[in-house]
Amino acid sequence: MSANFAIVGSGPSGMYAAGALLDMVPDCRIDVIDRMPAPFGLIRFGVAPDHYKMKNTARQFARTFELDAVRYLGNVEIGRDLSMIELRQNYDAVVLAIGSYNDANLGIPGEDLAGVYGACEFVGWYNAHPDYRDLDPCLDGPGVAIIGIGNVALDVSRVLVKTRAEMTDSDICAHAMDAIEAAPLKDVHIFGRRGPVEAGFTPKELAEMIDFEQCASIVDAAQLPAAVEGEFEGRIKGVKEKNLAILKEIAGQDMPDKPVRAHVQFYASPVEILGDGKVDAIRLERTEVIDGRAVATGETFDVACSTVITAIGYYSDPPEGVPLDRNVIDNKDGRVEDNVYVVGWSKRGPSGTIPTNGPDSKAVVELLVEDIAEFGKPGGDVIDGLLKERNVRVVNYDDFKTINEAEVANAIDGHHQEKFTRIAEMLAVLD
Ligand code: NAP
Repeated sequence: MSANFAIVGSGPSGMYAAGALLDMVPDCRIDVIDRMPAPFGLIRFGVAPDHYKMKNTARQFARTFELDAVRYLGNVEIGRDLSMIELRQNYDAVVLAIGSYNDANLGIPGEDLAGVYGACEFVGWYNAHPDYRDLDPCLDGPGVAIIGIGNVALDVSRVLVKTRAEMTDSDICAHAMDAIEAAPLKDVHIFGRRGPVEAGFTPKELAEMIDFEQCASIVDAAQLPAAVEGEFEGRIKGVKEKNLAILKEIAGQDMPDKPVRAHVQFYASPVEILGDGKVDAIRLERTEVIDGRAVATGETFDVACSTVITAIGYYSDPPEGVPLDRNVIDNKDGRVEDNVYVVGWSKRGPSGTIPTNGPDSKAVVELLVEDIAEFGKPGGDVIDGLLKERNVRVVNYDDFKTINEAEVANAIDGHHQEKFTRIAEMLAVLD
């Protein structure tokens, strides 16, 4: 009797879990269920459009879907089309790989003003996520403030300051490219509440800030230490030193004569977003870092801007009945409850790169295999019946290939593809 597994979410952590299950459980069948008609989660909707090469990881996941043992059940939402109870009853184990699709809050006054967006929304908007197609972000002023100094903050700032020509090797959506190009943007301010050494960004991403066609990056040399000192949690050798060297290079540049500026400011923690109905400015408080923590100094300053984008982390939104513990699904090493497991950002929080998920998902699958004494639940057949009964238009992997071909054919401006931005548009290609 074959073992039947459901993986909810077809992003990297879910696909690595599928690979691990195939390796460890002989004769298993896996249904990868995703609410989107297009698979690969973060790779499609999160990775920056100008980091197109990074999306090549999807090729390895695509090969998994070519196997008879693995099915893609796209356009199927848990909580709407199927319940967790139905999954648990019909699959030997359910692996949740639902990511973190909700923006963390700053918790400061003014956060509800028009013109404030979370990176999840903003990135989703330029990356064709159907949930954010109609975000229509306010980009009508010369100033944008980005909160956070991780790689997501750098992704957002790059997309804002790059020209159309610089975005050729990308898959940015036409609606976003047009809006960004038309915006009267002059100053992008990137604010970190801690210092250059504590910043979450990585050298490759930071180095991209050195030279833009129309944008000069600005760093205040006075905010940079002479050398990296001390130890940091999760530190990878040399990363902090490389970051510091790049920041020094930016700080030491003769100011290029370019119409747009990207200011990277450290030791600045947002305390209020100002405006009457709509953002006019952001108020920040100077900090100093003591024992690794940002400590407020009481000195505040205001920066004019019409848009604020927070890139300060995400939290998960599990299906009904699955417990949340702060920003992740409540779990112990990936075990949630009897026959339910969690992997990826919904397990450990929004950290790490795509390959980080390989060993992480494998470790959870090892526990799963250890836990489940016998297999034999019915799996896909019963689920197919339920979906048919409920008139759900399931998008399988061949369907997705048809959608993808249309997206490649629709490409403009030398882009790799023009992704559909609405679920109805994707389904229309099939029907
Ligand atoms: P991140 O590196 O953790 O950065 C989050 C930033 O938000 C930090 O600077 C953090 O400051 C700040 N922050 C959090 N709460 C705040 C608050 N209340 N006020 C002000 N600032 C606040 O995470 P991320 O940029 O969201 O990226 C998520 C993960 O994806 C990371 O592992 C990242 O490397 C990865 N990623 C990788 C790539 C790539 O490889 N190219 C691209 C995008 C994302 P503190 O440090 O002081 O908390």
